[in-house]
Amino acid sequence: MLTKLDCIGLVVCGCLIVCSGCATSSLKQAAPVLSDCHDFSRNPESINLEKLSDADQAMVKSVLGSLEPIIHERRQQQTLAWLTFEDLYALLDENQQIFLRAFAAIYPNQLKIDIPYQAIQEPPPDLVKIESRTLPAANGQLYVTQTQFLPKNVYFAYINMTKAMQQDIEKTLYVASGYRSPAYQLYLFLFYLKNHEYSILETRRFVAWPGFSEHGNPRRQAIDFVNEQGIDGQDNAAEFEALEEYRWLLEHAGQFGFELSYPKGGKMAFEPWHWRYRGQ
Ligand SMILES: [Zn+2]
Repeated sequence: MLTKLDCIGLVVCGCLIVCSGCATSSLKQAAPVLSDCHDFSRNPESINLEKLSDADQAMVKSVLGSLEPIIHERRQQQTLAWLTFEDLYALLDENQQIFLRAFAAIYPNQLKIDIPYQAIQEPPPDLVKIESRTLPAANGQLYVTQTQFLPKNVYFAYINMTKAMQQDIEKTLYVASGYRSPAYQLYLFLFYLKNHEYSILETRRFVAWPGFSEHGNPRRQAIDFVNEQGIDGQDNAAEFEALEEYRWLLEHAGQFGFELSYPKGGKMAFEPWHWRYRGQ
């Protein structure tokens, strides 16, 4: 069975981390995510952004290995949305912590991030749970969406929009990915480094740096959609772009407060499945 997490992973469109304590509203000032962000045992500038050193690649693997149990457990408990940075650090040994704290403290301006800073904040109190779904996908495979969460207002906007879509074209879209905590975004960034030859600069084109993800910003909450046949565009954006559901979104999503975040020709990779809520 194809599960979203094991194969393609959660959608990782655009994000970064700025600690609420030391990060100011200015991106240039924005720094670490961490509560003790002024206390580094390792200088973040010692991390090679073009390509991690062999030792740091080994460290990423080691950190991911240590974090895998909590990620798995939180998925099972459906509490990933509330994952904190402290939850992550608590599972790491000293060397792993030193690395991850330095990693998380890389300055966004070093990463040449050209999308707006979003937020590093606590999860919203009114998250609505969306149950996992198993969809019949191509090639006899099954596509499983994990349990997802959306802020209440965004959830109702999504429900109203998909009702209208159903009436118009007898199709609907499911939530492949909704709210993500900044700590989970950090985990995802580490996880996907291997897909981009351990280049942070390359990975950040595909995975938002914590704090820069619209998935972690309840005020501009993003949803990644998947259609009833398990087409989510993650491996092939053109496949989602070709959907009747996508054309319907282009025409009608605005009426429900949604807009396409990363259109073609933008600074981020084209993500036809990723729509943010801008409100009515
Ligand atoms: Zn997304």
